[in-house]
Formats: sequence, C-alpha cells, structure tokens
Amino acid sequence: MNSSLKDQVVLVTGASSGIGRATALALSRAGAKVVAAGRRLEQLNALVEEASGEMIAVELDVTRAEAVNLAVAEAVTHFGRLDALVNNAGVMLAGMILDADTEQWVRMVETNLLGSMFAIHAALPHLIESRGAIVQVSSTSGRIASAGSGAYAATKFGISAFAESLRQEVTTLGVRVIVVEPGFVDTELTTHITDPVMREAAASIGDSMRTLQPQDIAEVVVFALDQPEHVAVNEILVRPTDQV
Ligand code: NDP
Repeated sequence: MNSSLKDQVVLVTGASSGIGRATALALSRAGAKVVAAGRRLEQLNALVEEASGEMIAVELDVTRAEAVNLAVAEAVTHFGRLDALVNNAGVMLAGMILDADTEQWVRMVETNLLGSMFAIHAALPHLIESRGAIVQVSSTSGRIASAGSGAYAATKFGISAFAESLRQEVTTLGVRVIVVEPGFVDTELTTHITDPVMREAAASIGDSMRTLQPQDIAEVVVFALDQPEHVAVNEILVRPTDQV
C-alpha cells in the first residue's frame, strides 16, 4: 500500500451509516487507524468487524461538548495521536420556515454546526501537534440555499464560515482544513425528515437521478487527506451528474 494515510489516526463522526461509514472503511483500506464515532454503537461495532485495519468504535453524541472531549481523549489514549478529524455527523430535517418545528432547527444547529465546532475545539491541540487535517462535510446547501432547507442550509453555510476562519488561524501551523460539499447522496439522511411533503419530495428527487453513493464521497475524502503536506485541498463540490 502506497498511501500517506498509512498508520495515520483519523476520527470520523457519524460513522454508523452513509457517508461516514463508507469513509471509515475507505480510510481503513488506505491503511489509517480509524476511530468510528456515533450514537448507534451496534452499527459501529458491525463496522469495526468489516474494517480491514485497526478501528475502534466510540459511542458519541456530538451535541454534548463533554462527550466530544471524551471521544477525542479516547482516540488519543488508544492510538497515541490524532492526525485527522472528519466532521461528518449531521441531520437534515427539511421543512418550510413558516410554521416550522423550531425544535428541529435546534437539533440541526446542535448536531451539524455546534457539534462540528465542539469536535474541532477538542481535536485541534492534537492536530496542531501532528500537523494534521480537518474535513468538514458540508453540502451543496452550504453554497446555495433553497426553499425548504433554510435551517439546514444555515448550518452548512455556518460550517463553511467556521472552516474558513479556522483555516486562516491554523494553516501556517501546518493544519489543513478541507470542506467537502456533496450533492444528493443515497443514504438514510432524508428518511429522518418528518414533514411528509418534504420527505416525499426528497425521495422523488432521489428517484429522478443517478445519485451519488456514499463511497463516491468517501473516495473524495481519502483523496483530500492523502495529499502531500504542502498541498491543501480546501474545498471540493461533488454533485451527481444528473443533479441540476
Ligand atoms: P446518514 O443519516 O446516513 O448519516 C448521518 C450520520 O450522522 C449517522 O451516522 C448518525 O449516526 C450521525 N449523527 C446524527 N446525529 C448525531 C449526533 N447527535 N451525534 C453523533 N452522530 C450523529 O446520512 P449521510 O451519510 O447522508 O450524512 C452524513 C453527512 O453528509 C451529514 O453531515 C449530511 O448533512 C451530509 N450530506 C449528505 C448529503 C446526502 O445527500 N446524503 C448531501 C450533502 C451533505 P447515529 O445516528 O448513530 O448517531
């Protein structure tokens, strides 16, 4: 294997399904030691069984700052270092702004935005030490907002804003910040939408095209992390060819 990721320690949040799961496996195939984090421990344990290299499962709710600190500490205690953080955990509870259930806004902000900020806060001292990298899994909704995705898009725009500030603060310390912006990926993300009209709309968008698969984004993450130290891939937008 000829990857600079060999023996690099990578923490992936939201690794129990979809993009996070595929990314954890792709990193493992590239030789990385992976810390797979998420709330559903059963799925994470099954993932560890599937991994080709060293991988541990860590139960984590990213909305709890103290739990995020503990997960990072567990990664460093177990593997002795931390080289990359893939901030992937997220929820998309699409809905119109008028009459929205604001609890869903809170959940999205706490998971997608604040959770990723907590993870960066906890991981950054270790990543400065290792001259490591942070991958922010944003979205096309982090570039273009549309009707029905106001709160979700606000979290993804927020992720990009935080990433750019972070990049300016840490790039001369050798830490690379990478924002990945997928279009429609075939995962369970849309199944959590509670608004029946929005859920149906998301399903029919998915049915109308050849969507991306989680593996497509996993390979992009591996590509970005596997660059030589002087190359910082700051942003990658990946849409399905059929997505207008
Ligand atoms: P999934 O629903 O399959 O994955 C979401 C992951 O986030 C799950 O592993 C889930 O794990 C985890 N998660 C949710 N809430 C929390 C929490 N509070 N603490 C820790 N982990 C949590 O969907 P995707 O793979 O599609 O989503 C992954 C990322 O990709 C998200 O950030 C999403 O916004 C982004 N994205 C997805 C697109 C798509 O079309 N699918 C397009 C653009 C971006 P668990 O429930 O076990 O905690």
